Amino acid sequence: MRADATEYELVSPGTLDGVLALLAEAPGMWTPMAGGTELMVQFGAGRLRARRLVNIFGLAELGGISVGAETIRIGAGVTYTELRQSPVIQAELPLLARAASWTGSIANQNRGTLGGNLVNGSPAADSPPALLAYEAEVVLVSRAGGERRVPYAAFHTGYKRTVLAAEELVLAVEVPRRQWTHGYLRKVGARQAQAISKVALGAVARCVEGRVEEARLGLASVAEAPFRCVATETALAGKRLGPELVEEARAALEGEIAPLDDIRSTARYRRQVAGNLLEEFLRQIMAAEGGMNDGA
Ligand SMILES: Cc1cc2nc3c(=O)[nH]c(=O)nc-3n(C[C@H](O)[C@H](O)[C@H](O)COP(=O)(O)OP(=O)(O)OC[C@H]3O[C@@H](n4cnc5c(N)ncnc54)[C@H](O)[C@@H]3O)c2cc1C
Repeated sequence: MRADATEYELVSPGTLDGVLALLAEAPGMWTPMAGGTELMVQFGAGRLRARRLVNIFGLAELGGISVGAETIRIGAGVTYTELRQSPVIQAELPLLARAASWTGSIANQNRGTLGGNLVNGSPAADSPPALLAYEAEVVLVSRAGGERRVPYAAFHTGYKRTVLAAEELVLAVEVPRRQWTHGYLRKVGARQAQAISKVALGAVARCVEGRVEEARLGLASVAEAPFRCVATETALAGKRLGPELVEEARAALEGEIAPLDDIRSTARYRRQVAGNLLEEFLRQIMAAEGGMNDGA
């Protein structure tokens, strides 16, 4: 049943200070609303428990994409449309631009924000694999504590749970500007567009003369929260590319993940597909590195 709007209160302080003051007055009383693409679906279905909403959409302090010497800073209020249309995101963080371009519909992309995607904490969300691979940090802010930084890989603590405190907002996401020679992002779902993924992998690597110097891998839709595959990254580091490494990396990944069985897919399918995606990434690198004989 649809919710009754008269039972809800929505305020719009208009500044970051105003929002943080409200959150600090009674932590947990007010729920921030950014694009509302998650919250309004709950409202429409009569399931929105939060009765007091504070609007943060369009707050100047949460907006903008800025480029520093070491990092790219993306305001939590940046929408998918802004992300995918940003020349700097396209050039330096192409996996994130691609994830933004296949998130929801155009309407979702115009309203949905990066901060909302992270806080909502869906294990199947589209931004996490890219942000994990790029080693993003989340910048949180509260009135009493000021800013604190959390590696994005440590932001999710379980199914739809995060380290965000009730009086905190996500202020921004910062991504180090690193030189990766190869990147990969693939989402496997029931169909190409408007599908919730069953398995998604974001990956980057730096390869020199047929050797993987470093790799970063972010996996979503496999466990209760998106996660970085650190053991598999370690198995790849410093190794010569070739069919043996593909097998070694698949084995490391299979040992590292404990996939879920749920309504969208089975653990067996997810394990197999996660391995296939990693293999596809490695074979693409081998093909790009001068047509190496990968034994395929
Ligand atoms: C039809 C439809 C299709 C969708 N398709 C996709 C898809 O393909 N891929 C995908 O990943 N998602 C998808 N989504 C989910 C949704 O659009 C995204 O998660 C979006 O990024 C949410 O952002 P928002 O700004 O609208 O969040 P809101 O709905 O405003 O908020 C979501 C949650 O985040 C909190 N929040 C928001 N911003 C902040 C902040 N800065 N600090 C602290 N808390 C904050 C809110 O309190 C709330 O708990 C879809 C949703 C719909 C309705």
